[in-house]
Amino acid sequence: MTVAENLAHIRSRIDAAARAADRDPATVRLLPVSKTKPTSAILEAVDAGLTRFGENRVQEALAKWQELAPEHPQVEWAIIGHLQTNKARDVARFATEFQALDSLHLARELDKRLHQEGRRLDVLVEVNTSGEPQKSGIEPGEALSFARELAAFDALHVTGLMTVAVNSPDADQVGACFDLLRGVQERLRQEASQVSSWDDLSMGMSGDFELAIAHGATTVRVGQAIFGAREYPTS
Ligand SMILES: *Cc1c(COP(=O)(O)O)cnc(C)c1O
Repeated sequence: MTVAENLAHIRSRIDAAARAADRDPATVRLLPVSKTKPTSAILEAVDAGLTRFGENRVQEALAKWQELAPEHPQVEWAIIGHLQTNKARDVARFATEFQALDSLHLARELDKRLHQEGRRLDVLVEVNTSGEPQKSGIEPGEALSFARELAAFDALHVTGLMTVAVNSPDADQVGACFDLLRGVQERLRQEASQVSSWDDLSMGMSGDFELAIAHGATTVRVGQAIFGAREYPTS
């Protein structure tokens, strides 16, 4: 299967999942995740009409940006993985979106570096909805106080929330993670509306995006189902 064929298939599954949930398919954004894949695969997806790509490692994303930007200036990058503060400067240079904000220290550093670059960044707060210690993200109970602090950073355009659900064959357990994120969203809409309208809910990957759409996802992050299996695992 080519990237274009995979994409058409994923799009039709997204549309079907949205309709089954009585939702307009246009309210679900597909973010293709190109981590570990070569720029040749990204260009196949560009030819099929995609322009923004998710990567979880900054160094890899930066290298791909440097390679593609001269001839494909329309290509945009979303960093979806945990970020060390010392990489904030790189992200501020080239990323359009960052989905894994999980500390005020990082928010402050990103804001500072973005001001230096004269840029802004779309930001999603990552919430740990599975309770697994190896997962990043803030605790659901910390979300409101964390969210309110973000008003201080005017180069950060806060658009919503992101989570990685528990990796389990049990749809109830996975769905509980998605519902928890949605509950946090409702609370923030009521009590932190000065910071953001919190519209974007980024949840669901190759293995669980249809379930995520049923639970209200507005962004699904799909890698392997578009680009094929990864040769080595990345978290
Ligand atoms: C890798 C990754 C994805 C995509 O996973 P697939 O199983 O390839 O669809 C989504 N979200 C995050 C945060 C990732 O690191």
